[in-house]
Amino acid sequence: MTTPPMTAPFRFPVAARYAGMESSPLKDIFAMAALEGVVSFAGGIPDPELFALEDVTACYDWVLSHQGHRALQYGVSEGEIELREQAARRLSRDLPTDASQIRVTSGSQEGLFVVAQALLEPGDVVLVESPTYLAAVQAFSVHGARMIGVDTDDDGVIAEALEEAIRTHHPKMVYLIPTFQNPTGRTMPIERRRAVADVLLRTGVPLIEDDPYGALSFTGSTWAPIAALPGMGERTILLNSMSKLMSPGVRIGWMRAEGAILDTLAVAKAAISMQSSVVDQLTVARYLETADLDGHVATVSGIYRERRDAMARAIAPILPGGAHVTHPEGGMFLWAALGEGYDAQEMLPAAVDAGVAYLPGWSFFADNPDRSTMRLSFVTHSPEVIEDAIGRLGEVIAAHPRD
Ligand code: PMP
Repeated sequence: MTTPPMTAPFRFPVAARYAGMESSPLKDIFAMAALEGVVSFAGGIPDPELFALEDVTACYDWVLSHQGHRALQYGVSEGEIELREQAARRLSRDLPTDASQIRVTSGSQEGLFVVAQALLEPGDVVLVESPTYLAAVQAFSVHGARMIGVDTDDDGVIAEALEEAIRTHHPKMVYLIPTFQNPTGRTMPIERRRAVADVLLRTGVPLIEDDPYGALSFTGSTWAPIAALPGMGERTILLNSMSKLMSPGVRIGWMRAEGAILDTLAVAKAAISMQSSVVDQLTVARYLETADLDGHVATVSGIYRERRDAMARAIAPILPGGAHVTHPEGGMFLWAALGEGYDAQEMLPAAVDAGVAYLPGWSFFADNPDRSTMRLSFVTHSPEVIEDAIGRLGEVIAAHPRD
């Protein structure tokens, strides 16, 4: 018997845009965070105990028994009309919207990818908040875009810095998360929104406005999107998602836009995935029509607020002098900057040993990362668990004095 010749294992010739991305640097972090006995604040994971399981089950049952043949068939790339009508109805509270202006996506993440497909050429510049949502950076980067971070303060992106960056870098678009931002939890007040809109109107740069968290308000007041400011509707693609309000597992979101770009978005969506799941679209439409989403979101937000309070209370005394922590009025995340001399990534193994995990903040920066930062999601655990775990994080921070 002859032994076959030794050959190197076959390797696909991967596109340059994915080179060096074989594994996400965050994979190891999430693996650490998932270890038994570790209280993880790393992921943005809604508490599954709070899903409206009975209502959602009833909606799936209703769709399959009343619209089963249609629900199991192909649909249209724009999205099922019932869902687009419900989306338009919700959006119209702040921004008059017709169902024809809605494009359904499989979560906002696909929306970001569709937008990138439709708008970006290799080499185009996208301006983002510093820090911003990591997976948006990824969706734009794999299309060859150059991501440039714009300075922010407690009120979000700084309008003057945005204008300066637009003049210097001539971006194709600006990507912002104005309400209960990921990763910082910050919200842009109305004056800042107006100032940003003014810059975009004067410079003619389109806005991609990502708003998956806006309804999760802890104060009862909600924020109209920048798209609703005068003149901004036609130059904004606004993304919404059901992930944080109903379920991330159903993978349903939508985009709102005006004019000719709507056709391009539908063509891009068709090229990527034909259409989002019809069963899921009809079920979400039924849910929005028959269930009390606002009531459900109010209940969930009330619980999240207690958890935010627990984390805010517990974290204040454990932070070193000069550290900064945000106080989110909604959403899922709190952001702490420990200050110069600290490296949150380096500290993570010790934190995991102590039974607590967070996401080091460096990964949320398009450029010039602040390595002393960390993102902590407060929504997954009870106040007692949060307070206990943050106490242990305090011991880890105390054992890692400034370099
Ligand atoms: N945008 C932002 C700012 C997010 O935080 C997320 C979820 N982490 C998404 C988009 C994508 O969410 P989904 O695809 O589940 O709608």
